[in-house]
Amino acid sequence: MPNRPIAKRIDWLLDLARRHGDDFAAPGAVLARQRHRALHPTAILALKCMDGRVHLTYATETPQGVIEPFRNLGGMFDLGWPYLGEVITDSVARAVAQGRRVLLLLTYHFSAGDPHRGCAGFGNDTDAALRHVLGVRSQVEQVFGREHGTVYPMVVGFETDEDALILHAPGDNPATLDLATQPDADPVRLGAELAALLPDMPGPMRADLLPLVLGNLRHIAEIRALRRPPTVEHTEWVLCVGRGFDFLHEPGIALMVGPYSPDLADPIRKAAGIIRGNMEAGRIPDDGFLLLASAPWREPGPDRARAELKTRFLAEFSAGVIAAADPDLARKMVSAAAVLHWDSRCMELISGPSSPGKGS
Ligand SMILES: [Zn+2]
Repeated sequence: MPNRPIAKRIDWLLDLARRHGDDFAAPGAVLARQRHRALHPTAILALKCMDGRVHLTYATETPQGVIEPFRNLGGMFDLGWPYLGEVITDSVARAVAQGRRVLLLLTYHFSAGDPHRGCAGFGNDTDAALRHVLGVRSQVEQVFGREHGTVYPMVVGFETDEDALILHAPGDNPATLDLATQPDADPVRLGAELAALLPDMPGPMRADLLPLVLGNLRHIAEIRALRRPPTVEHTEWVLCVGRGFDFLHEPGIALMVGPYSPDLADPIRKAAGIIRGNMEAGRIPDDGFLLLASAPWREPGPDRARAELKTRFLAEFSAGVIAAADPDLARKMVSAAAVLHWDSRCMELISGPSSPGKGS
């Protein structure tokens, strides 16, 4: 796929988004999601890197839409960022109002096979990435409390060669549960392991975490059976800005920048730099790349109208940042802006795809 002309690649991507929306809203998927929520009421939010390899829904074989993702460069987050703080607080409030607890997965990623396949956002420095998420965990505790009765922040490593999760114990305890090294997938034994690792996690929440653990063990077994070659190098040719990119679970396609950092230009510049590097190294054709902005909406009316304004703003802002930082790369940019109906994951293009100067 990465070697085809840009227009073909964009057609493929938009078709992927369409198929994802169809799958997400299919009766069987809706019922699976509702059943999962009824059986496992804990709301699950995940903070992750913009690297497309880190896809928790896929890696834990969880029904689409159960894990709510927040993505940014390197999984770098600061709950002091006004917009991020609001979005997370809103999600927590919505869940708590329904009587649900919230499990907040704070992720970092690395490759067991080669440190150079680690997180570009942290210059492949896994210790730095881990230190950063431990800091985010402290912030979550500062906002939502250290007792963890309602909101539980858990640090999770994501090993991208096998998509294996590493669960970290709370507080100063350095213990971990590495799902790549489990002797079996016995739910009783694993339940006991979780209880030992996370003694302060409410029992019902541990029961809701267990399906993710079992799903990840199934997924690891599948990856091993497939002998999937690790994604060796960056081949991304799409720069996504905004929210609603769940459909991109194939690695090496897209870099996803959430609209959270007050210095939004910084992650956009870094992502553009990675795409330029991909072109220069000949890993992707240099005939173009896609800038895709997206904003979700839940309610028709003002909420939907504002999503249109947001996505147009994000597209224009990002294009301006790229044009200022790298005019040569900007000439190869095809830009598109979309809104996404959150409950159906139906994506609708508001403008583009269009090249600079060609209008939309
Ligand atoms: Zn990363």
